[in-house]
Amino acid sequence: MRTQVGIIGGGPSGLLLSQLLHLRGIETVVLEKHSREYVLGRIRAGVLEHSFAALMREAQVGERMDREGQIHEGFFIAHDGIKERVDLRALTGGKTVLVYGQTELTRDLYDARDRFGGVVIHGAEDVRPHAIDTSRPYLTYRVGADVERIDCDYVVGCDGFHGVSRQSIPNDKIRLLERVYPFGWLGVLSRTKPVSPELIYAAHERGFALCSLRSPSLSRYYIQVPVTDSVDDWSDEQFFDELHRRLPDEVATAMITGTSIEKSIAPLRSLVVEPMRFGNLFLAGDAAHIVPPTGARGLNTAASDIYYLYHALVDHYSKRDDRGLESYSERALARVWKGQRFSWWMTMLLHQFPDNSPYENRLQKTELDYLFSSEKALASLAENYVGLPF
Ligand SMILES: Cc1cc2nc3c(=O)[nH]c(=O)nc-3n(C[C@H](O)[C@H](O)[C@H](O)COP(=O)(O)OP(=O)(O)OC[C@H]3O[C@@H](n4cnc5c(N)ncnc54)[C@H](O)[C@@H]3O)c2cc1C
Repeated sequence: MRTQVGIIGGGPSGLLLSQLLHLRGIETVVLEKHSREYVLGRIRAGVLEHSFAALMREAQVGERMDREGQIHEGFFIAHDGIKERVDLRALTGGKTVLVYGQTELTRDLYDARDRFGGVVIHGAEDVRPHAIDTSRPYLTYRVGADVERIDCDYVVGCDGFHGVSRQSIPNDKIRLLERVYPFGWLGVLSRTKPVSPELIYAAHERGFALCSLRSPSLSRYYIQVPVTDSVDDWSDEQFFDELHRRLPDEVATAMITGTSIEKSIAPLRSLVVEPMRFGNLFLAGDAAHIVPPTGARGLNTAASDIYYLYHALVDHYSKRDDRGLESYSERALARVWKGQRFSWWMTMLLHQFPDNSPYENRLQKTELDYLFSSEKALASLAENYVGLPF
């Protein structure tokens, strides 16, 4: 088989790129290791920046998102028994975020790829990029006993943190800059009315907590747990007891608890790969960078990679202009690092760090005090949360 752009990974990054390129007449094939059901079973991001929503609309997949997504004009930070509001709209001159689950967004992208006749191959095993440092790269993959080959002009690695793309680049050609946190987020999804129509991020001496939501009848709650814990260590009852302890009384008493319909632990990690290109292989999304979910940057930063790469590929095919491809890594990384900085800052602000000294704990409290005593500090938080321009 031959295509113009071979995409590894059928998560949001790979599907969005494929859909955008298709609309500009550029052929793609997406190779996804897992089944569609598996990909759609992963409960992850929920907060979308304004620019991401615009890109979804440009890809002609924004209809349900606009109908069912909830516009959030602010969120709360709870600390010391109170909750204080960050008014995103007022602090950013009218910008907001959209709460729409990654699962729904991925479903919309799959539906669009079906509708437009896109080629997405599921159950592709042993996907391997070859000859990526030449002008004739190709991909191989296995379905059962058969090995297939796809020749392409470019390979895009959208295969997430554990994917094969990054690993195909020789070690001496990339740099991994990484920070691993000693804790993770234990998340519970429950079919209950969310305790608050806006997200509540809570800093507490027992650890961080987050009250989030996916819809008016679907709650997503998280608590910080040691990275060594497993899901089996936490019954639903223990989870909600601990969540209640970390929230102001008015929130805890108002919360409706229910049986978990999904429960998982996400370890917290920051990682950036530099550069995001080797030869004719381009990395995008979680394949190139990971952030702790605290600032809701992961999927949103993936979207900016896709935006730059999409335009670069369109310029290449329509105008033979390669400046976008040449500068892709540099442009994408400039925004990636701002997302890294913000996620790191939010994580430091709100979590308990087991090795912190009393001095560092005091500084952390002072950071919160400062935030809510300075309009300028709050405006900086809000500007980053709604998303810096692409
Ligand atoms: C608990 C949690 C909460 C989060 N909350 C937010 C949030 O509110 N806002 C936000 O912006 N981000 C959030 N994120 C981050 C967000 O989910 C990711 O950044 C996003 O999934 C990245 O999309 P992607 O397509 O680049 O990678 P992925 O979603 O990881 O998709 C990669 C795809 O590649 C496939 N694949 C892997 N290896 C191979 C292979 N060898 N061959 C073929 N296919 C392969 C995988 O099966 C997968 O389908 C959160 C993450 C977590 C864990």
